[in-house]
Amino acid sequence: MNLEFTPEEQAFRDEVRAFIAENYPKHLADFGMREDMAREDFVAWHKILGQKGWSVPAWPVEYGGTGWTPTQRYIWSEENARVNALMPLPFGVSMVGPVIYTFGSEEQKAKHLPGIRSGEVWWCQGYSEPGAGSDLASLKTTAVRDGDHYVINGQKTWTTLAQHADWGFFLCRTDPTAKQQEGISFILVDMKTPGVEVKPIKLLDGGYEVNETWLTDVRVPVENLVGVENKGWTYAKFLLAHERSGIAGVARSKRGVEKLREIATHETLDGQPLIKDFDFAKKVSQLEIDLAALEITELRTLAGEQAGKGPGPESSILKIKGTEIQQRLTELTLEAVGTYSAPYMGGVSNDNGSNEHPVGPDYAQHAAATYFNMRKTSIYGGSNEIQRNIITKMILGL
Ligand SMILES: Cc1cc2nc3c(=O)[nH]c(=O)nc-3n(C[C@H](O)[C@H](O)[C@H](O)COP(=O)(O)OP(=O)(O)OC[C@H]3O[C@@H](n4cnc5c(N)ncnc54)[C@H](O)[C@@H]3O)c2cc1C
Repeated sequence: MNLEFTPEEQAFRDEVRAFIAENYPKHLADFGMREDMAREDFVAWHKILGQKGWSVPAWPVEYGGTGWTPTQRYIWSEENARVNALMPLPFGVSMVGPVIYTFGSEEQKAKHLPGIRSGEVWWCQGYSEPGAGSDLASLKTTAVRDGDHYVINGQKTWTTLAQHADWGFFLCRTDPTAKQQEGISFILVDMKTPGVEVKPIKLLDGGYEVNETWLTDVRVPVENLVGVENKGWTYAKFLLAHERSGIAGVARSKRGVEKLREIATHETLDGQPLIKDFDFAKKVSQLEIDLAALEITELRTLAGEQAGKGPGPESSILKIKGTEIQQRLTELTLEAVGTYSAPYMGGVSNDNGSNEHPVGPDYAQHAAATYFNMRKTSIYGGSNEIQRNIITKMILGL
């Protein structure tokens, strides 16, 4: 495969770079995930992209996709990562959206796809339960048919940003007598339905990114069932492959390494810039080497996609390596800022309303919170141990 961009691809890169420079909201520049973010912050860029017709690049053109090649999509994510842009959340765009346009009814497509494209409607993912994470098929939440409704009862957990969600997609058991995977259905739930209760969980970084979601006698019209009753596991797995392929975050990690180098140029050790310290520089270089290898692997996967192969078990490799790199990056950043991160260990940064003078440089303020927050990456989207099991079976054939 050719890893050089063609002249057309380079022109495309210039076009998107100019568009981002002109249109990305200035107040969100270089804005990572933070504990003080409002709903409007999350969706600001999404709404601008929706108007431009660029919010769902990977979707088929008939549903509003851009028709970009996988390489163009790669360039797009690279250019956004350069400015650390706050991208459209995945729950609508890369999770339930593809499920709806692939398996949903015409009514569901007409009702739900426009709101996902425009960023007006916020979705959350109701898969995991207290006793069903890695072993997702053992989920216990039930949906019992009552006339033209399902009545849903159960508890979901780790529901990311459900506090802002308008709709959720839930896996529910519709046939308790069938084999585990065969009795599950994929149901869309309006989060304002009586009986849906969202309770926040405070995380290590001090933020409220995830929730428990309780469902008590929640009545949902049967037309909210996606596809065929009891076939939800098929749609759930389809969605997970899409979820994992976006998780590698190569472009964003490249930006993170650049920032780390900048920080290590400012910070000192024994009177010289930290980046000149042999041990530290070696760790940064190793990270860069691993990131370059991951990038090539991702480009190979993209080339496969360009040749018509969907995201397969290779997405597990991208997930493991990508998240390991993201975690190492935050560890090295924390190491670089050293004791300056200590005042913010509780997850509270000093730039949201406090009148105290911040301790240390700006880049120190979020280092600890980001470090703690990124522990999640090897767990969510299917833990890295589970991804290793998939590779063992599906790629190595063991
Ligand atoms: C920040 C965050 C956000 C999340 N957001 C969502 C969301 O929006 N919606 C949603 O539905 N879920 C969400 N999740 C849940 C996530 O998908 C689960 O946490 C994940 O699947 C692991 O399940 P568990 O937490 O129940 O851990 P468990 O399954 O109990 O696993 C515990 C440990 O045992 C290991 N393990 C388990 N089984 C095996 C095995 N067979 N072989 C080897 N090792 C094994 C795991 O790797 C893990 O280290 C989120 C999780 C986090 C941390």
